[in-house]
Amino acid sequence: MRPLLVRYWHPEHEDNPAMLDTRPLLLKTDFPAINRAALDTLQVNLGYKCNLSCTHCHVNAGPTRTEQMDRATVDLVLDYIHSHRIAVLDLTGGAPELNRHFKYLVRRARATGMEVIDRCNLTILGEPGFEDMAQFLAEQGVTVTASLPCYLEQNVERQRGKGVYWESIAALKQLNGLGYGTDPEKQLNLVYNPDGLNLPPAQSGLESDYKRELKQQHGIVFNQLFTITNMPISRFGGMLLAKGLYHQYMGILRDSYREDNLDTLMCKNLLSIDYQGFAYDCDFNQMLKLPLALNSKPKTHLSDLLDQQLLNNPIITGEHCFGCTAGQGSSCGGALEN
Ligand code: SF4
Ligand code: SF4
Repeated sequence: MRPLLVRYWHPEHEDNPAMLDTRPLLLKTDFPAINRAALDTLQVNLGYKCNLSCTHCHVNAGPTRTEQMDRATVDLVLDYIHSHRIAVLDLTGGAPELNRHFKYLVRRARATGMEVIDRCNLTILGEPGFEDMAQFLAEQGVTVTASLPCYLEQNVERQRGKGVYWESIAALKQLNGLGYGTDPEKQLNLVYNPDGLNLPPAQSGLESDYKRELKQQHGIVFNQLFTITNMPISRFGGMLLAKGLYHQYMGILRDSYREDNLDTLMCKNLLSIDYQGFAYDCDFNQMLKLPLALNSKPKTHLSDLLDQQLLNNPIITGEHCFGCTAGQGSSCGGALEN
């Protein structure tokens, strides 16, 4: 494989020890106690390497990150899938396609009949060495959930880097050409997250705008738009602290709290796994190094969970959880309210 292009890389975005950390401010919280419900989704982070380094990234992913899930841990994920009734395998990163075991995992998981989601940044489909990836995803019937923070070039490139908009449009056209967005077996969903301190607008209205604009401007079609609130952690959290905006943003999230979102929080039905195989209640807790709490152990590995059920286990919460309950609610699958 040729070296990964780094044309989108912003050095100031890369994980670095000088980046301000919101974690100490998030640990003490009055967020309501919540417990796990039935598990249906295993969300696996295959590694933190990415060809982009977006301003809102809650993973601090970028081209120089080296953390990647190894084959033994990938096989453990497959063992877990086989020993539990999991409906959805949700693959994330970084850019999950950069993991050398990505295709192996996808093939094995799809062979069980479960849905597999690839959280794709679109630009990876145009990187040298990944020219066959879109075809592979289509052949396997993988659901592609792709970030596109706006249908306007300027807004996408402010968050994601120069050149990303047109690379993304080219990738969406390639996916459409393979049946994504029209064939019911090839779902193509887009993800919007706001720029700055705003909460996302209503998901259904924005979805109509996206569909109209992308169709008119580029002839692109897709299935659903998911709106996701920016979490006050990692790179976005560091930016809030650096600009003195942390308390203002937390005020917005807390003031927009809606209790009815508690019932549909994604952590109730999802288990998040890091590249080393450790378990968390969600991806955000993974980034904050807040592991799943089980049987008084400080960390729980997936190998400890093969014979365990997690129903009713308490969920680890923090101030960042107000990001999931604000307004229409937010999860990896978009707004929580219908
Ligand atoms: S937001 Fe996604 S595409 Fe952007 S740097 Fe993070 S993992 Fe990569
Ligand atoms: S951040 Fe959201 S998904 Fe994660 S534990 Fe808190 S409420 Fe649940």
